Amino acid sequence: MKLFTKKIIFFSSFVLVGLSIFFVWICLFFDEVLFVRKSTIYHVDTPLKMVALTFDDGPSPEWTPKILAVLKENKVKATFFMLGRHVKAYPQIARMVVAQGSEVGNHTYNHMVIFNSSTVKLEKEIKDTEKAIKEATGLTPVLMRPPKGWVTDKDKKLINKLGYETILWSLNSKDWVTFDDKYIVKFIMARVKPGDIILFHDSGGFFGTEGGNRDETVRAVSMLVEKLKARGFVLTTVSELLASRNP
Ligand SMILES: [Zn+2]
Repeated sequence: MKLFTKKIIFFSSFVLVGLSIFFVWICLFFDEVLFVRKSTIYHVDTPLKMVALTFDDGPSPEWTPKILAVLKENKVKATFFMLGRHVKAYPQIARMVVAQGSEVGNHTYNHMVIFNSSTVKLEKEIKDTEKAIKEATGLTPVLMRPPKGWVTDKDKKLINKLGYETILWSLNSKDWVTFDDKYIVKFIMARVKPGDIILFHDSGGFFGTEGGNRDETVRAVSMLVEKLKARGFVLTTVSELLASRNP
């Protein structure tokens, strides 16, 4: 065999082995994400016709009050998973959420994607947020939502050790990519069932967690709350939904 051919065979085998290892790694990576998500709270097994609306990434001085107004008008509550840095910047909005009867949860300080992160870093993100929420509202949160829902068993153990329950969602409004409030309402109403935890955002947009335009979310929530109530659903906080769990 010519040396050139030998080199080609050697090089191709090398690439093939590399690609195979990469493929296995990708599969394990996503498998772990999905597997871990399955063993996390994302839906509550309840005998009651209850659902929980949740809002991530706030508080926002512009959008959170608008969502609170909709909730107040309809006499319902929700859970807001807040970023520590936003609580620090807008403590009065965090207080408004609590005063309205809604619940505050921890969503890290800087929207840190905590997938397999260092223990020290994750602990700081959670603790700093907890401190900001405590200073603003006087309350210590007990629910934690990892940004993007990416979390491993190791991360979850630490979250638990710090006094939190990891909460994901069973229905995703996809309000950061969907630009049609009527579609969001239709999508959710076609799938909603008792015990669902529904994900929305009260800050940011497609490119980040700051500012953004959440007009569509406000409109969608307004329509959705009315429709859910008309169908006999009670809208509550995640903590109250968890308290109604089947034994
Ligand atoms: Zn988020």
